[in-house]
Amino acid sequence: MTELAAAPASTPALEQATCFADLHLAPEILAAIDAMGYSTPTPIQSQAIPLVLAGRDLLAQAQTGTGKTAAFALPLLHRLRGFANTSTSPARHPVRALVLAPTRELAIQVHESVVDYGQRLPLKSAVVYGGAGMKEQTESLRQGVEILVATPGRLLDHAGSKVVNLSQVQFLVLDEADRMLDMGFLPDLKRILDLLPKVRQTLLFSATFSDDILRLSGQFLHEPQKVEVARRNTAAETVEQVGYRVPEAEKLDALLRIVKLRGLTQAIVFTRTKLTADKLGRQLQKRGVSAAIIHGDKAQVERITALEGFKKGSIQLLVATDIAARGLDVVDLPAVFNYELPYHAEDYVHRIGRTGRAGASGLAVSLIGQEEEKLLAGVERFIQRSLLIETLPEVVNLRAREPKCEQRSEARSAPPMPVPASNLMDSSAPEQPDAPLNPGYKRGQKAMPCALFMPAPRSTS
Ligand code: AMP
Repeated sequence: MTELAAAPASTPALEQATCFADLHLAPEILAAIDAMGYSTPTPIQSQAIPLVLAGRDLLAQAQTGTGKTAAFALPLLHRLRGFANTSTSPARHPVRALVLAPTRELAIQVHESVVDYGQRLPLKSAVVYGGAGMKEQTESLRQGVEILVATPGRLLDHAGSKVVNLSQVQFLVLDEADRMLDMGFLPDLKRILDLLPKVRQTLLFSATFSDDILRLSGQFLHEPQKVEVARRNTAAETVEQVGYRVPEAEKLDALLRIVKLRGLTQAIVFTRTKLTADKLGRQLQKRGVSAAIIHGDKAQVERITALEGFKKGSIQLLVATDIAARGLDVVDLPAVFNYELPYHAEDYVHRIGRTGRAGASGLAVSLIGQEEEKLLAGVERFIQRSLLIETLPEVVNLRAREPKCEQRSEARSAPPMPVPASNLMDSSAPEQPDAPLNPGYKRGQKAMPCALFMPAPRSTS
């Protein structure tokens, strides 16, 4: 066991690779990266990949949306490629790499990336998560997989029924590691660690690490190398953060007003509770906004449908609790709203990390109610800066100004407002934050949603 204090210093001085070929990844992996359209490694990738290839344990801290998934998936695929085989015998495909994620949607998303990056290697992979049937997951596990992505609870279910054997795991990755190590997940995580070989490579990735988590991680990392590509607990610089003081009763109008004024095509709107999420979602739908709701009490199929709709662009506002705050990747998501500030200040960073991903610009708007001053102070302490507070432009009678359907076609031909994009994801057991919003979104492909994005009709008076 190694205390973090004993770990080598962080690695800002490491030479940055300027192209993927400099990272000495296998040709099949380089070809997959090329097919993904990535030309340059992100800072976390150029720092973490050589260390993972060298067999080091890692504590990697990077802002959300900066390419963390590829930072562990690419070198893992490289190191596992020697085991790639086309045998149909399950015994030839033991689990060698285990990736744990706190939420179902994040697990699905990470697995999709593993499939993309490993498309040219005959390595088998699977994802297992709660809220879905066991049967299909059991079948794929029985066939054998080298790479398993899982949420902890469901993994333990499969391990308990002996469907999966973890005794040959060589690589363990904890994505959103601070969440995996908090009290909600820790008991499950400890049970999983007991099923793994003691000698293995362990990689922890997260945008935020508390001091407690850093201490705890020292218990199961071996001489970890710390990689820190951004100041601790910060969001991407590309995210414009702004707050408005708005009485609770006026938040709905304020939200719609800002969406309209900013010409936002899509946004995730975060609430603290499932109750508020349900209420707000219904209110938005009544106002004619294409809104969907995602929280921990929704059936998995509803969660997936909502997320898919959002990614495709048919859903304009995704109202979500913090289960959607972590890891979700909605490509080019323009904005995130904190309809209510989070109880835990670190969730603010995860929430707003759904926008401004991969170098894109983004907007994070916080609507601060009378009762939320303490939460605001907590957020400001956490991000070590004051939030820019602006005055809300006069809230006009939005209902009276909402465009009629016939007007929408004209609006589409009008020069579009600048459109950011985003990604969203969600969680399983404890309500969690972080994930990209609209993974499938391609700039310019999305139809302009109707009601919100029309310029206000000119007053005839
Ligand atoms: P992640 O932080 O892993 O969720 O990644 C955020 C987004 O960045 C995803 O949409 C990735 O596909 C994308 N991405 C990851 N690495 C790169 C890269 N080197 N160049 C461009 N985009 C990337």
